[in-house]
This record gives sequence, C-alpha cells and structure tokens, in this order.
Amino acid sequence: MHHFTYQRPVTLTEAFKAQEAEMNSRFVAGGSDVFLLLKKEIIAPDRLISLRAIDELKGIKQIGNHVFIGSGTTIRELEKSKLIREKFPALQDAATNLASTQIRNVATLGGNIVNASPGADTAAPLLIYNAAVTIVNAELSERIVPLTDFFKGPKQVHLEIDEIVKGFTLEIPPPGSGSIYLKFMKRKAMDLANVGVGVMLTFAEDSSCADIRIGLATVAPTPIRALKTEAFLKGKVLDEAILTQAGEIAAGEISPIDDLRGQAWHKIEVVKTYIKRACWKAKERAKT
Ligand SMILES: Cc1cc2nc3c(=O)[nH]c(=O)nc-3n(C[C@H](O)[C@H](O)[C@H](O)COP(=O)(O)OP(=O)(O)OC[C@H]3O[C@@H](n4cnc5c(N)ncnc54)[C@H](O)[C@@H]3O)c2cc1C
Repeated sequence: MHHFTYQRPVTLTEAFKAQEAEMNSRFVAGGSDVFLLLKKEIIAPDRLISLRAIDELKGIKQIGNHVFIGSGTTIRELEKSKLIREKFPALQDAATNLASTQIRNVATLGGNIVNASPGADTAAPLLIYNAAVTIVNAELSERIVPLTDFFKGPKQVHLEIDEIVKGFTLEIPPPGSGSIYLKFMKRKAMDLANVGVGVMLTFAEDSSCADIRIGLATVAPTPIRALKTEAFLKGKVLDEAILTQAGEIAAGEISPIDDLRGQAWHKIEVVKTYIKRACWKAKERAKT
C-alpha cells in the first residue's frame, strides 16, 4: 500500500492548514470508503487528514422547523437519535439498514453523501426532506447548495479540493405527513441497495395528497428525485390504480443499468412496486 502520513486536527482551521502543507491529501471521516480505495490502490494520497475530532462537524440540532445534522454524525448516531426518529423516520430507516453495526459506528453521513454512490442509502431520505448542504472552504466562508445540485455523477459531487462539508439542513415535514425509506437488496443484511425508494407524503384534510417527494437510489447515475411522478400524484386521492400509474411514470424517469446488484429491467419492476408500497406505508405512518 502507498505510504502516507496521518493527521488528526481538532478544528477546521487546522484541517485546512494540514491540507495546505500537503496538497496530495485526502480528508477521511469514518474511513469505510476511503480505506477500501487505499487498499485497492485507487487513490494514493501522501497524507490522510482525519475529520473525526473536529467538533464543528458534529451534532444534531433543531433550529425552528429545520434540523442541522453535522457531516461527522455517524450512521449509528442517526439510527439511535430520538429527534431523527420523530422528525425524519425515512432517514432512520436508511441508517438502520446501512451495512452492519460495526460499520455504522464509524461511517458518517458526510462520508456517505460525499462518496456519492448512486446507491448511497442516506441520499434518498435527505432528498425527500429537501436537504441543503453546507460547505466550508479554507477561508472558513460557507456556501449552501441544495442536495439535488450537489451530486454530479457516479461517485462525484460538486466540491472543490479545499472544501469540507460541514453538514446538512433538513426541513421538518408538516403535520399530517408520513415518510419511509425502503431498501431492496439481494441479501437480508450487509448489502448495498439494489433499489432504494424514499417517500415523504403530506395529506390534505380531504385525504388527497397535498405534497409528495420521492427519492430514488441506484436507478440513475446519481440519487434522484422522481419529479414527474411527484407532479402526477399531487392533489390526487391515492388508490391502487393511481399508484400503478405513478409506478409507470417513475419507470420513465429512471435509467438503471445492469450491474452486480441486478438487471435494469428488474430494478424498473422493483421501483414500480416499491413506490406503491412506500406510499401505503407512508400513509400508515402519517396516521400515527
Ligand atoms: C462492508 C461495507 C458495507 C457497506 N454497506 C453500505 C450500505 O449498505 N449502504 C451504503 O450507503 N453504504 C455502505 N457502505 C459504504 C460506506 O460505509 C458509507 O458510504 C459510509 O457512510 C461512508 O462514510 P465514512 O465516514 O466512512 O466515509 P469516508 O470513507 O471517511 O469518506 C468517504 C468520502 O467522503 C469524503 N469525506 C468524508 N467526509 C467529508 C466531509 N465532511 N467533507 C468533505 N469530504 C468528506 C472522503 O474524502 C471520501 O472521499 C459500506 C461499506 C463497507 C465497507
């Protein structure tokens, strides 16, 4: 393996200084993606800069009707958080089904999103909660981008080399909402999603769909929102026929490929079924 030095700064300023001193550096949070890349010699940094001891990247805080989640929050912390369970159950579904407890103890939300796998489990939930990404640069100035604009392509995000993701701001769904993330995988545990479907549904007083957001993973080069399907469902009373039509519309919005996890035609069929299933389950959650 390529030889590298390791630094563990405790502030963002120190992290950027460590990077300035060695430009062939790589930031590392939990390391569950980075160390695989190192081992396979896909990357060869001269320095690893750990983000794990930086307090500015930690914590889950409610600010009015938004919640800010630090990028260094581990998947396990998301899984165990009462606030996440109450406000963002789809994110908790994703956290609970990501890898194993050992991985969840180290893997972070920031790492999952910056790694930008099309099948990243936390992506669809963040998309349905209208997440925005806070990014900080070496001058410590911040920019905020909607998550939908952050993904660039498979394993690529719009992030400069000297930028760090500080965290994610999620919108708390209004009363009368239910949300869920369903993960279809070949094995029951420790597998990436074949298909991931997140749904956030808000019902009007007449039981029609006042708002809906659908996030999809593993069926396009990046995680995506199914915007045409959402537009079709808004204002309608959901029933089997409407949701079957919605599945067909969603099938036209995705571009899955044949890969190790499954064939494209099968992923399309799963999306059709899972959108329907996710909507029914989100409706059940909206009642409780
Ligand atoms: C056995 C195994 C099973 C897995 N199963 C799943 C699964 O079921 N679902 C799933 O979605 N993923 C899975 N993964 C992938 C991985 O665990 C997740 O993507 C994890 O969330 C990555 O987080 P991390 O903190 O370990 O990232 P790291 O490996 O530390 O970093 C990943 C990337 O993000 C960058 N980075 C990290 N934090 C920041 C930041 N704050 N600012 C800027 N850049 C940053 C790093 O430079 C690197 O490029 C699995 C991995 C393994 C090894």
